Amino acid sequence: MSEAGARPHNPDVLSPDAPGAQADGSSDVVTMEKIVALCKRRGFVFPSSEIYGGVGSTYDFGHYGVLLKGNVKHEWWRAMLQERDDIVAIDSAILQHPRVWEASGHLTGFTDPLADCRTCGQRFRADHLQELQCGRKPSKHPGEAEECSLTAARDFNLMFETTIGPVKESGATAYLRPETAQGIFINFKNVLQFARKKPPFGIAQVGKSFRNEITPGNFIFRTREFEQMEMEYFVPPPEAQEWFSYWLAERERWYMNLGIRPDHLRLRAHEQDELSHYSSATSDVEYLFPIGWSELEGIANRGDYDLTRHAEFSGEKLEYFDQGTGERYVPHVIEPAAGADRATLAFIVDAYDEELVEREGTGQGERRTLLRLHPRLAPVKAAVLPLVSKDGQPELAREVYHAVRGRVQAEYDGGGAIGRRYRRQDEIGTPFCITIDHQSLEDRTVTLRDRDSLAQERVPIEGLGEELERRVNAPWRTPKLG
Ligand code: ATP
Repeated sequence: MSEAGARPHNPDVLSPDAPGAQADGSSDVVTMEKIVALCKRRGFVFPSSEIYGGVGSTYDFGHYGVLLKGNVKHEWWRAMLQERDDIVAIDSAILQHPRVWEASGHLTGFTDPLADCRTCGQRFRADHLQELQCGRKPSKHPGEAEECSLTAARDFNLMFETTIGPVKESGATAYLRPETAQGIFINFKNVLQFARKKPPFGIAQVGKSFRNEITPGNFIFRTREFEQMEMEYFVPPPEAQEWFSYWLAERERWYMNLGIRPDHLRLRAHEQDELSHYSSATSDVEYLFPIGWSELEGIANRGDYDLTRHAEFSGEKLEYFDQGTGERYVPHVIEPAAGADRATLAFIVDAYDEELVEREGTGQGERRTLLRLHPRLAPVKAAVLPLVSKDGQPELAREVYHAVRGRVQAEYDGGGAIGRRYRRQDEIGTPFCITIDHQSLEDRTVTLRDRDSLAQERVPIEGLGEELERRVNAPWRTPKLG
């Protein structure tokens, strides 16, 4: 729509023979630089402590980032709690008894091999040298240049240490949790008692974890502070393998249902030498990021390792007693462990698109960048825009905005050329733009613009909130699949 009002044909769509148009009108080249730039430009994610020069690999989420990541977590909770009745929630403390990390094996085993370079003073993951670049120019792999002088690898524990108590010397050493899972195991008995569940059943948790990663990077893919979405599913031991396969399929489906293209998603089983000490089988859900196939989520068969270890270290019995059969056993555990930040990055990357459209009212082609996010994930579902800021349009637009925001996350945007406002909403992934024009004042209808198809239709203001809610929750398939 141009400032002049609605036109009979859809002016947003540029004909394929327009100058510069590509055959399919879109671009498939998504680089991490483009993603980082969009996230900063539109207020999704900022480098943390930027005014002080930043702090290594920590990020702050801005308004749209908070809404998007919140929706990712909400969809995870929905799949874990709302759509089934065998999983309960928990929110355990970040600071836990230090013995937790002894029992879990993190105190001795949660290490990465670290090598220092005596020449440049940089530190590297000794097992990733071939993927890393040394800081010197021309850049080479660490240890490759003649002047490099790498130390032998030594184990470096990834847990952040802190002190409980006001005085460092007399306080107790504690650790910021490196995963949320242990907070679930140590509450097994509490949950069993109060949730009235019997295996198979699960306990789910979302929360912050902290790892002093040696080589963080690739934006929010690997950071030192991040959010995890983990669920421990306790099963009778003979059923473990069956439930492991079940959760692999279930978790892959979750990403696809939220719009991730199937050809950008795969399951990769860990080789025997990759398996953690506790795991008899692990598979990763991997996504084809701009940096290549990388882990999105790990799904592990942890056996009875965790409950047995915590029982041993705490002296508490952590087992299930079946009153019906008189059977007593330590359940085995299947764990789907996902990262909320990494999943958010995958959804942004998968949604990122560029296409050629017509600049409103000019006939000139311009590239539009947009996030084709699943409407349920989109930070803002509907933007309400008065076409011009006069003639009673802003007043009616405010009325519409107040009516719809009770139903869906909405935004009022009153200023600037309509084309620029559309582009802004496209870049944050808003699936619907509601435009109020002169006709709206006469017949109480508005135009509803679809982010993906750019189709515009006139719909009544009456019942608009309900209609938007219906559309946001309708089945959706990414147009990037064609
Ligand atoms: P990686 O091999 O990438 O270090 P991991 O196998 O150590 O990951 P898990 O311990 O299985 O990871 O954690 C489960 C999930 O938590 C990961 O699949 C990932 O999504 C997320 N995650 C782990 N470490 C980080 C990190 N440093 N930054 C962001 N997300 C992370």
